[in-house]
Amino acid sequence: MPRIRQQNVTAAQWSPNGSQLGAVDLTDATNNPFAANVFSVAVQRQRLPKDIFKRLQRTLENGEAMEPSIADAVALAMKEWALENGATHYTHWFQPLTGSTAEKHDSFFGPADDGTAIADFSGSELIQGEPDASSFPTGGVRATFEARGYTAWDPTSPAFILENPNGALLCIPTAFASWTGEALDAKIPLLRSMDALSKSAIRALRLLGDEQSERVFTTIGAEQEYFLIDEQYFFERPDLQTTGRTLFGAKPPKGHELDDHYFGSIPERVLAFMMESERELAKLGVPVKTRHNEVAPAQYEIAPVFENSNVGSDHQQLTMQVMKSVARNYGLICLLHEKPFDGINGSGKHNNWSMGTDTGHNLMDPGDTPSENINFLFFCAAVIQAVNSHQGLLRASVANLGQDHRLGANEAPPAIISIFLGAELDKVFEALASGNGDPNTEEAVLTLGASVLPHLPMHGGDRNRTSPFAFTGNKFEFRAPGSSMSLAFPNSVLNTIVAEAIDDLADQLEVKLGNGDDLAIAVGAVVKDAYAAHKAVCFGGDNYSEEWHAEAGKRGLKNLRTTPDALPEVLADSSVAAFEKYEVLSKRELESRFEVWVEQYVLQANIEAETTASIARTLLVPAALRHLAVIEAAGVSALDQELRSLLDEFTAAITELEAANVHPDSEGLELAVYARDSQIAAMAKVRELGDRLEKIVADDLWPLPKYSEMLFIK
Ligand code: ADP
Ligand code: MG
Repeated sequence: MPRIRQQNVTAAQWSPNGSQLGAVDLTDATNNPFAANVFSVAVQRQRLPKDIFKRLQRTLENGEAMEPSIADAVALAMKEWALENGATHYTHWFQPLTGSTAEKHDSFFGPADDGTAIADFSGSELIQGEPDASSFPTGGVRATFEARGYTAWDPTSPAFILENPNGALLCIPTAFASWTGEALDAKIPLLRSMDALSKSAIRALRLLGDEQSERVFTTIGAEQEYFLIDEQYFFERPDLQTTGRTLFGAKPPKGHELDDHYFGSIPERVLAFMMESERELAKLGVPVKTRHNEVAPAQYEIAPVFENSNVGSDHQQLTMQVMKSVARNYGLICLLHEKPFDGINGSGKHNNWSMGTDTGHNLMDPGDTPSENINFLFFCAAVIQAVNSHQGLLRASVANLGQDHRLGANEAPPAIISIFLGAELDKVFEALASGNGDPNTEEAVLTLGASVLPHLPMHGGDRNRTSPFAFTGNKFEFRAPGSSMSLAFPNSVLNTIVAEAIDDLADQLEVKLGNGDDLAIAVGAVVKDAYAAHKAVCFGGDNYSEEWHAEAGKRGLKNLRTTPDALPEVLADSSVAAFEKYEVLSKRELESRFEVWVEQYVLQANIEAETTASIARTLLVPAALRHLAVIEAAGVSALDQELRSLLDEFTAAITELEAANVHPDSEGLELAVYARDSQIAAMAKVRELGDRLEKIVADDLWPLPKYSEMLFIK
């Protein structure tokens, strides 16, 4: 890499006090209170007329539609609050099927009769927007000539203000639908699935003797992994810029073998980035809690305290947006791609998921004696049944091109979906299923052998880091989602399939109770049957091992390795039936998603393949030729031959890739399969040879920053 080597970035350049962007005192907590930029319930209480505030809260609690008079009053209060906080524009912030967020800014100000401007924002502007949204993917739900899409205010996710050095923007979380009412976004199905799960869970809770709870909320706590690299390297790599990942790069001599990065101390510049991100996120009401180094060099993680699924999912999108933007203040780029560096651990987004009642009970909390906790056993059995019945759909919910490099790569859960229950729950369910054996686990204490150290209570099961769907104490952790993904769809799936399983178990319970069975005995029988029928999906061993792949095959579990393998599961009969029964997504809405995701896969694969060919031909070949000239001038024939034959192979591989990049006359899934088998396969060959060249071409002639440079932030 001949050009800019790592520069010494001084604290003055990257600290907020030294930069133009944030002349703010980070330590001044009173000026940066949590949720300062959120139109929170507290702000609403303060600013809305009392009766309007009460009616708004009632509307939200009961999930009712908004009356226009409330909307007008809320809009007025929101506008005044936003203007006082420096906002000049507002936007309906929504999540089209691209997986990211979209915004179209409108000024609050309109011309007044006397030649000045007045700030105007009505209830109807708050509730509904109508962007000319013809360029968002719809998967055939809407033809381009029907350009209208509607955005509808989601009052259950609070509005917030995004700051910019030159002003501020009021963001109104919003749903996005076609004018025929079909969901064109990720939020609508998530909200529908939360309603569906609540209804099923409340029905079951009544059978289980709970008369108090009125609503059950699903929750998300997302652990976001990401890489940070110096921005100068990013801008020297066309592959990172256009695809988010490196398409070339030989393995560095030092990776994460020494495990010296994981939980290691955090470099000062990185810590400064984290602190500013956290401060910005806190202002936006995102309850960030944890930060640490991850396994790979230059890899980190951020995790919030969990929230209800809708808000948690919105906050996740916001977290990615804020991190990407704050990183620039420190001369860094935040990479959210699932696999930015080949041969180095990729990034996921663990989706911690649970269900809780409005009376404050976590339905996934086993308590001290899970074997006697019939509520827990019932709902846990429903999750096991749901995951087993819809393995393919769950796998499909986390499918994208980036994930194909990560899932199953001995660092991330495999493409096979299975559940880790842990030793304690294994024992409970096995005892129930077999009708004998002790279901209880003695409370264990860990003694550390030094009198000054405390004795620690031990958890019922140790962690299993290799499982894609693990019970972790009082929640399930779905570990397969990728780092760049919206969590809305995976959670829509989870909520829907669990709602379906709860109803199925509730049907059985109802029959038994109708026959006069005792509640505990009836629940025991239902749980036993469900576990016996679905235990094939439970696995406590090493998910990375070859044996598991063989064993999973014997058990009949699905192993959908790539996106084209997985996506058809979205349209499987069992998927369509569950989504339609719970009115989360119609068949047409599912088909539109399938189409959009297949198309995205094809487009992204094609961009990668063309970028690979272009880098190879216009950067790497010329570098190799320059190196060859040096060798020829020196007259070292052994080196000459070695390089020439590698260059011949490389040129042939590039030509093959370029041929593959001419698409055959096919479309849809067929084209996706083509892209995978022809383009991606040809790219792999070009890359392998390119990486070999990297190892023999003179370092000062090599045109791309190397892994060893990018991965170690100084
Ligand atoms: P661990 O990963 O070691 O279990 P934490 O308790 O910090 O550690 O949990 C990790 C994530 O799980 C956090 O984002 C946390 O908020 C979330 N989490 C905890 N309880 C729940 C729950 N009931 N529902 C959803 N997420 C939860
Ligand atoms: Mg965790």
